Amino acid sequence: MNAINVVFPEDAHLLYHFHIDKNVKAKCKMIVHPKKTWDQVMESWGAIVDCENVESYEHRVEAFNVVCSPWPIFTKYVINAWLNLYKENFVKVWMDKVVHLGNTKSNRVEATHWSLKRILETSMRDLCFFWDSMNKIIMLQHNAIKSSFEKSLNVVSHVFNVTRYKKLVGFVLKYDLQYIAEESDRVEYVGLDKSLCGCTIRSTHHLPCACELASFGVGSITLQSMHFIWTRLSFLDISGGDTSVELSIQQEWVIIMNQFNEVDMAGKINIKAKLCEIAYPDKTSLCPPSEKVKTKGAQKRHQSKFAHTCGSKQLLPTSILRCASNLQIIPSRIH
Ligand SMILES: [Zn+2]
Repeated sequence: MNAINVVFPEDAHLLYHFHIDKNVKAKCKMIVHPKKTWDQVMESWGAIVDCENVESYEHRVEAFNVVCSPWPIFTKYVINAWLNLYKENFVKVWMDKVVHLGNTKSNRVEATHWSLKRILETSMRDLCFFWDSMNKIIMLQHNAIKSSFEKSLNVVSHVFNVTRYKKLVGFVLKYDLQYIAEESDRVEYVGLDKSLCGCTIRSTHHLPCACELASFGVGSITLQSMHFIWTRLSFLDISGGDTSVELSIQQEWVIIMNQFNEVDMAGKINIKAKLCEIAYPDKTSLCPPSEKVKTKGAQKRHQSKFAHTCGSKQLLPTSILRCASNLQIIPSRIH
């Protein structure tokens, strides 16, 4: 903690209250008696940690003093060791003033540390083994992040498939949309009133809060109204917040053209299919059958059209056979 103050003197430093809670609880068990009062004492402590404004903070500290008055050593410990020194690092009212983008806990780092230790198993191996193990962990994380980018780009929940989110879907992270949906639910109650809104999501996540959303027209929530980190859906080393950078795809375009000219027919079809996905996002490679298919009533066995055309029919379940007979699938998409 001392080093952080020296190296990052300008930055806010948060503490994960879970570990502070553990220390306070341990002290409580040592000093406070009888045992049945522990829950009341810890509840009173929890009310201080979860406090959302400065006025109620003072009241909750007073209430804590009253509850713990029979054990002044414990009260002194909580006030001197934690509240006086570090309240701004872990009490909600002060944490809500910091842009933390949702990182208020250390469990993400701890989980990764645990995974690494599990894969290393022992300290009795050579440097190459540890290097490989760490590389594996990093590759797994990298793939997990890439997969989350793809989900944000391509998987649209029906909840967000409405006009309000049309400028955001496919351009921002999914978590981001969930936060905005929660704020949207508050719009009716909050309106344009900033004091009622509290604007916490704006100050902590740099996302539009309920009172801002109330001022937006339908479908006009823009990417500019949020922190650029939420719009990062690739590993490209370009800051989305920097609008002075001129982006060009000329270099990539030349490479694609060269690849296209060098590969065989199957490769050409694959490249074209991928580019079609980007060029025509609203279209799919599925198309209606050339002849109208009778969909009502069960097909008689000896008249089944599919039975004559598909040699491997016995390997496929009936439902798939019906779907396949009703749709024509372009071969390049079957890989
Ligand atoms: Zn607000």
